Amino acid sequence: MSSGDTLFDRILGRQAAPAPLVVPQAIGLQLQLDAQGRVLHMAGPLRHALGQQAPSEQPPLLSEFLLPHSRTSVEGRPADWTGQTLDLDFERLGGQALHLRGWVQPLAEGWILQLLDIGDLLEEREQARIREHCQQLAAHIGEQLRLCSMARLPEVLNEQLQSLAQRWRVPCIALALLDEQDQRWQIHGYYAAHDAPELWHVGQVLGTSLDSLSGNAPLHLNPIHGLSEHPRLISAFGHHEGFLVPYRDDHGLAAWLLCAPYPVQHLAPQLSDRDWLMLAAALAGPLLGRLREQRHHQHLERLEALQDLLGTGWWELYPHSAEVQLAPQLTASLQLDTDTTRLPLEDWLQQVHPADRQELGSRLRDLEQGKPLLLCVRLLRPDPSLPAIWYRVQGQALGVGENQRLVGFMLDISDIKNQEQQAAAACARLNNLIASSPAVIYVQRYVEGALQPSFFSDSLQPLLGWTLADCQNDSLPERLHPDDRELYFQRTRQLLREGAVRSRYRLRDSQGHYHWLLDEAKLLRDDLGLPTEAVGLWLDVTEATQSAELVRQSEERYRILVEDSPAMICRYQPDLTLTFGNRPLAAYLECAPAELPGSNLGQWLSDEQREAFVQRIGRLSPDVPVSTAEISLQLPGREHAWWVWSDRGVFDALGRLLEVQAVGRDNTEVRRSQLQLMQSAKMATLGEMATGLAHEINQPLNVMSMAIVNVLKRLGNGDVQVDYLQDKLKRIDAQVQRAARVVDHMRVFGRRSEIEQQPFNPAQAVDGTLSLLAEAMRGKGVELRISDFGFEVQVQGYADQLEQVLINLMVNARDALLGKREKQPDFQPWIALHAERDTHKVRLWVEDNGGGIDPRLLERIFEPFFTTKPVGVGTGLGLSVSYGIVENMGGYLSVENGTEGARFCIELPIIQADQITR
Ligand code: ADP
Repeated sequence: MSSGDTLFDRILGRQAAPAPLVVPQAIGLQLQLDAQGRVLHMAGPLRHALGQQAPSEQPPLLSEFLLPHSRTSVEGRPADWTGQTLDLDFERLGGQALHLRGWVQPLAEGWILQLLDIGDLLEEREQARIREHCQQLAAHIGEQLRLCSMARLPEVLNEQLQSLAQRWRVPCIALALLDEQDQRWQIHGYYAAHDAPELWHVGQVLGTSLDSLSGNAPLHLNPIHGLSEHPRLISAFGHHEGFLVPYRDDHGLAAWLLCAPYPVQHLAPQLSDRDWLMLAAALAGPLLGRLREQRHHQHLERLEALQDLLGTGWWELYPHSAEVQLAPQLTASLQLDTDTTRLPLEDWLQQVHPADRQELGSRLRDLEQGKPLLLCVRLLRPDPSLPAIWYRVQGQALGVGENQRLVGFMLDISDIKNQEQQAAAACARLNNLIASSPAVIYVQRYVEGALQPSFFSDSLQPLLGWTLADCQNDSLPERLHPDDRELYFQRTRQLLREGAVRSRYRLRDSQGHYHWLLDEAKLLRDDLGLPTEAVGLWLDVTEATQSAELVRQSEERYRILVEDSPAMICRYQPDLTLTFGNRPLAAYLECAPAELPGSNLGQWLSDEQREAFVQRIGRLSPDVPVSTAEISLQLPGREHAWWVWSDRGVFDALGRLLEVQAVGRDNTEVRRSQLQLMQSAKMATLGEMATGLAHEINQPLNVMSMAIVNVLKRLGNGDVQVDYLQDKLKRIDAQVQRAARVVDHMRVFGRRSEIEQQPFNPAQAVDGTLSLLAEAMRGKGVELRISDFGFEVQVQGYADQLEQVLINLMVNARDALLGKREKQPDFQPWIALHAERDTHKVRLWVEDNGGGIDPRLLERIFEPFFTTKPVGVGTGLGLSVSYGIVENMGGYLSVENGTEGARFCIELPIIQADQITR
């Protein structure tokens, strides 16, 4: 027997039957026994390990060396033990057991008991047993965790932790997992015995205490001895002795089993690190697997929901078979035949609009070369009126060579694309609009309190001739008109303060010309309310500004013109309330220009004038908006004033008179001289008539004188009868009255005309004329053919002036007649006067048989100072004054040649009964 292994094999009974053998004295323990089993002698190295026996007279019995439970194995005598393997636990020196195995062999008269130490073997066996137990436990744990429902998983985990804790007497046990997303350690399962400290709880985040551990082997945590390199861990273990078992899988360190307060060597000395690792793995492995599986499942669910929601889905291309596989959602939304999981690539491409098909095909070939794919394509729609469906196709090559896979996804981006297209169209429209308008849209970026140009619309170039680059680096202010720079900085400050601004300043274009720009800007802010950029619009208002300036200047000029005009200018409402009056008007009316608005123009007119004025204004219309008249006013502290007054009506769209603008000129002087002229003309007439008048008065005087002479003569004769006397006196009285009438009328005629026109009967003027002229005419042998009017009418004007006209006409006729009779002594001159009327007009005809007027002169005879009479005889004023008088009365004086002589016609408007005010 040379080999120890063989020996041990025998000892351990691996050999069929123990054969007698001699154990070398160098190993084990050899006890020499007597027949009663008393130990006579000890040999072998183990003898030193045995406890000392109390000295006695007899050698000690073998059983005395044994621990109590082994004593039964050696009851009887050694002869009884032959052929048996004896497993004996000897008491060691320290009281512990020394496990020995051996057998007895006869030796001379006694026995020899050969023993070998089988402590290690037993321990190994125990460990194997425990390991097996552990394996069973682990298998059970794993199974429980794997098979339970997902909902019960936490509960089952806690149950398993509890069973572990109870089995290996762990007061507090927990499983910490590494959260794969945020890489934090977190307590996932936890069990504590009722008397154990509450160290952890489920869901607790362990911070960084576990991060520094390598996790290759279980870790003993002893707060008293060493390991001060894990202070945080010690505090996580509540400064108790602890034990940590790591779990690693293909993801690396993934879990820790934490036990505390747990002096592991003391409470579970049988368990090796391997056993602990196995138990930890039994817990963490299936748990992690299930959690990952669950996460994966949720992820898939989310992905599917997402694909459904977005109309998106994955695809995979198989270049060898030219086939493509689409996610079910994609197949559904593309309305493809869903029978097969794969479809020919060509069928897929047929779904794409021809405009994009070629490009997609080419990009897919690029993808095979490893070039990533990103393309937006339209789907082919049978109805072109429907909006296009856009997909974003993205793809990449995974892996290389044989294992290469071409995968990607398709995302429905119709919403975005269509909005993009709408936005692009709107943008294009806007750009067009801006390009064709004198406007520039700009964006200024907010940089530390300053605004810097970052965008200009294309219209900038045509408008100002610069580009964005030209006004970067703060060069914009340099292009501002020096007078407007302060304004611009103010604008920026206001924009930043108030968020919006509107201002107007001048900018220089590339040609050096300044443009007036109207600037409207708004400040945009981010979510936090901080300014990001300003968006604004420049509108070129140069023309408008310049024309406004021109208008202002022209208005100023007109204002000056109106103010300084010698003419009176005013505006008034239809009720004659003044809204404006210039200085000359105010001066005439003796008030300040400011007092004019609000006062009524009618206050300076007589009732009749006002009436006539309002009527005249009332006749204004959009067709005939202007009317001119001479008006007479009663001015404060002055006599009558005569103004030539032009009114122009301003009408609204419906033709209603809104306002009247009027220009007036003081005609008083002219009017006065006219009146004076007329007066002089009248006086001249009177002068001319003097001879006639003398005759007129002489006649009664002669009659009277004759009557007086006759009466006196009769008185001298004493032959006076009362009747005779009465008769003579009556005749004298009649003649006196006749003379007095003539003188009276002359006085009336010589008076100045009334200021206001009066209604009168033209027959009255005819009577007056005849009273002055008739006698003289007849005296000159001129026959007067006067017809009765036969009607009664009223005309407006001055009776004396009409009388003057009639006198002029008759005197002229007389002159022509007498001139003719001088050449033709037998000539029978006559003057005819008759009248006729229609509804509106009355006409007085004065006709003679003086041969008429040379037709070449007909047009000129109304001109002032036109006369055919010798110097000193004719004044040439008679007809022109007469013309003016008739015209002033609203009438018309005309002439024609009749059969025998001139035929003058005075035409006057009849005033209707309701127009007569007085
Ligand atoms: P005057 O009588 O002082 O010449 P008028 O203006 O009264 O001035 O007349 C202008 C001219 O018209 C007269 O000189 C005369 O030649 C012409 N005339 C006026 N009335 C008649 C008439 N009835 N017949 C012919 N000629 C006339």
